[in-house]
Amino acid sequence: MIPTRAYAAFSSEAPLAPHVIQRRTPAPDEILIEILYSGICHSDIHTVRSEWGPTQYPCVPGHEIVGRVVEIGKRVKRFKVGDHAGVGCFVDSCGKCTECRSDEEQYCTVHAAFTYNSLERDLKTPTYGGYSERITVRERYALKIKKSLPLEKVAPLLCAGITTYSPLKRYGIRKGMKVGIVGLGGLGHMGVKLARAMGAEVTVFSTSPGKEKDAKRLGARHFILSNRPNAFEPVQGRFDFILDTVSAKHDFTPYLESLKKDGTLVLVGAAPDPSEVQAFSLIFGRKRLTGSLIGGIRETQEMLDFCARKNVLSEVEVIPASMINAAYERTLKGEVRYRFVIDTSTLRDLK
Ligand code: NAP
Ligand code: ZN
Ligand code: ZN
Repeated sequence: MIPTRAYAAFSSEAPLAPHVIQRRTPAPDEILIEILYSGICHSDIHTVRSEWGPTQYPCVPGHEIVGRVVEIGKRVKRFKVGDHAGVGCFVDSCGKCTECRSDEEQYCTVHAAFTYNSLERDLKTPTYGGYSERITVRERYALKIKKSLPLEKVAPLLCAGITTYSPLKRYGIRKGMKVGIVGLGGLGHMGVKLARAMGAEVTVFSTSPGKEKDAKRLGARHFILSNRPNAFEPVQGRFDFILDTVSAKHDFTPYLESLKKDGTLVLVGAAPDPSEVQAFSLIFGRKRLTGSLIGGIRETQEMLDFCARKNVLSEVEVIPASMINAAYERTLKGEVRYRFVIDTSTLRDLK
């Protein structure tokens, strides 16, 4: 076992603090990655604070992991020492069920081992995430990252990127389609960039007036301040597709009313509290309300290659590990522009 410095939550209320975890030496089909950067996703905050149900503490969050391969098992084929590699929201799955066989391991019906606050395939060992110096993972669940890409701007693609890419791809977003993105945070800003790169005309719905300029710079044509009276009047029946990335409870009805007939509203934002939906907002216009969970390994690799080709990267603020708690507070206040990314080499400086 390899002692590894990390940053962990010890309860739902206390601030995160330095911790030491153990990583295993790689088995024949595993690689050991020295983590260089790890993004802060709002899911980390929901989990650390037990907002989605009871969390297992200590919890080392982080599922936007990038780094350098430092050791490989003897059967490893896709990676060599020195390569750049990434790990997203899950580190293992059964590999045999219908979902795993169709490259949608995140929906594994046996056991998907999520990157943190979950159990390994043995159903015993807790998983620990990317707020740490290194991680051991089966090569099948690691992503290849081109050496030419700036790693800190790639890290958020491993969750924010794939979570927005997957539904945009699934619903066939292409040139000329009208797409709405709700919430301009970590996921939302990737949604804007990706929908634009697919050729869509993008509208951002935001509660923050200060984000209009950025929304347009990131690729949006229109910006709607969703908390203003009558904000939705001009966009009734306008959109083919709306992607909702909001992290807190809100009303879906105005977004459903903004869809065309047969339009689709996809929820990726995972607010802990339930919202009501009016049946009529779906019945008239035969609208679809659905959800989407990250993406499989094959699709995540496809997304990384798409982003490399189209020069789509995340807008990041790199922070030392000592700033993690402050970054959580700023994310909760909507002050993130647009993803905090931890420089994990700074874990070394902590006592
Ligand atoms: P984030 O950076 O905090 O962004 C969320 C944005 O939602 C905020 O920037 C804000 O945008 C808007 N918002 C926040 N509170 C709001 C409220 N009360 N009413 C209306 N709008 C509000 O979070 P994130 O990392 O992008 O994650 C977003 C959500 O997606 C989280 O719930 C996360 O757990 C979930 N998630 C789901 C998946 C999946 O697979 N489905 C994957 C990753 C994350 P404006 O300032 O523009 O209004
Ligand atoms: Zn995430
Ligand atoms: Zn499976």
